[in-house]
Amino acid sequence: MLIQHKKRKKKKKIWNKSEKSKEYQRKYTKNFINNSEKYQQKLEKKKIWGKLPKFCEICNRTVTNDGWSGHLKTKIHLENIEKKK
Ligand SMILES: [Zn+2]
Repeated sequence: MLIQHKKRKKKKKIWNKSEKSKEYQRKYTKNFINNSEKYQQKLEKKKIWGKLPKFCEICNRTVTNDGWSGHLKTKIHLENIEKKK
């Protein structure tokens, strides 16, 4: 069992180094540059996502997705967690 597993790992490594893998990466990078417009759209979507509201049940208030991680560290939120305990 153990030997078989090792063999499989070795095979994977060889493939990664192979020309096929390099070719794939080249194509991928090329596609990525060609799709930079798509990439920008993705970023734009993320920006919009950050402005979307997220409801905190503990504080009974709404914050944005962008502000969520910050909200989790606020005193009000931490105090409310303590109160719920
Ligand atoms: Zn909260």
